[in-house]
Amino acid sequence: RWNNGPSVARTEHIKSTIIPPAVFDIYKKPLVIHQGHMQWLYDHEGRRYLDLLGGIATISVGHSHPKVAAALQEQIGKLWHTTNIYRHPKIYEYAEKLIAKFPKNLEVVYFVNSGTEANDLAVVLSRLYTGNEDVVSLQGSYHGCSSGLMGLTSTQSFRQPNMSVAGYYHAMVPDPYRGIWSGCRDSLSQVPGACSCPGDCVTSDKYAHQLSELITHSVPSGRLAAMFAEPIQGVNGIMQYPKGYLRKARDIVKKNGGLFVADEVQTGFGRTGDTFWGFESEGIVPDIVTMARGIGNGFPLAAVVTTREIADAHSPAQYFNTFGGNALASTVGKAVLEVIEEENIQENSKTVGKYFLEQMMQLQKQYPIIGDVRGKGLMIGLEMVKPGTKEPLDNVAEIFETVRDLGVLMGWGGRWNHNLRMTPPMCINKEDVDFATSVLDEAFKRHSP
Ligand code: PMP
Repeated sequence: RWNNGPSVARTEHIKSTIIPPAVFDIYKKPLVIHQGHMQWLYDHEGRRYLDLLGGIATISVGHSHPKVAAALQEQIGKLWHTTNIYRHPKIYEYAEKLIAKFPKNLEVVYFVNSGTEANDLAVVLSRLYTGNEDVVSLQGSYHGCSSGLMGLTSTQSFRQPNMSVAGYYHAMVPDPYRGIWSGCRDSLSQVPGACSCPGDCVTSDKYAHQLSELITHSVPSGRLAAMFAEPIQGVNGIMQYPKGYLRKARDIVKKNGGLFVADEVQTGFGRTGDTFWGFESEGIVPDIVTMARGIGNGFPLAAVVTTREIADAHSPAQYFNTFGGNALASTVGKAVLEVIEEENIQENSKTVGKYFLEQMMQLQKQYPIIGDVRGKGLMIGLEMVKPGTKEPLDNVAEIFETVRDLGVLMGWGGRWNHNLRMTPPMCINKEDVDFATSVLDEAFKRHSP
């Protein structure tokens, strides 16, 4: 009953002949998934995997969550789509529910289909509002890979020759582990030798100064349209900044005429546990928030939330998006928010995430190939190094394959793809964490030098 689609050989053939090589694929041995339920995925032979990647922070409440699936099924039988030309009540009900999750002045929402589109629109809004063009993001950031956003994204592997985009600058990423200043961060784990500042980390001032210098020396007009930042970088291997950095960065950007944009594509919807949005842990209110992935639990939906004043910089009737928040998308988005509330998903992220981080810190004591353990809530990263050094471990791909053979799926990331990343469906429990820990233990045992 599991062989209800193309076989491994058939998918491999299609992949090598029709799908372009640039399209991302992570396993050496192809994995063909046929079904999913909550935190579990099943391959073509019915083999079960604990999914700790969650479509990279996309599956928020669980694969094929029954309540979300039922809402979608009901809506499918009634109406799929109208484009905003006719009023459909679902989009308004959903908009109201989503906006209630934000601080008061963030009161308008644009619905779009992907994180790339959301960030692209945020660039447009910030340029329209400020009258400035230049945009800053952080080294190691990922914000999308359209022709424009290749400038905003700084992750080296997603940039292409002959595709440089004018007007984008990358500030030094405040990396407490590898950066020129090691600092403390808002997490259970501390970088060995780091300071343990009671309030802001002292290094936050140093990195903020670097940002200020970049704006002064590199941005021709010294005036910014915006700075974009992920509250915790995902693609860059779960990079947490020193405490206080984002708040200081925001102040500098405002002083230079720009807007502060929080990219919550991975960190939003309770994933970081303590707060619903990543930016809240720094006590700041951004001017624009972009979100995707977890918002739709796998359904193509994304959004841009901002102030009325910023949205008013857009000329009336000058924004069009065919599918953004259509009847199906809004139905799913609303059901996802309901499940997050009804099933205490944010609280689960916090408690299970803390337990997960503690287990990883225990493993770190046994395996010197784990250079750093970090993260918050259910967004956890392990930086894999050659023992006694900070050089990237070169057999991370083998560890990754072994973990999969033992029944767990996770991601990799970081500058050299040398980090293991966990962003699971937020319904996982402590038993799942125990299983994952035993699998990682076995994989590290097999692959330690
Ligand atoms: N922002 C962040 C932080 C992301 O991780 C991603 C996807 N990796 C995007 C934006 C782009 O989202 P999408 O793939 O939906 O365009």
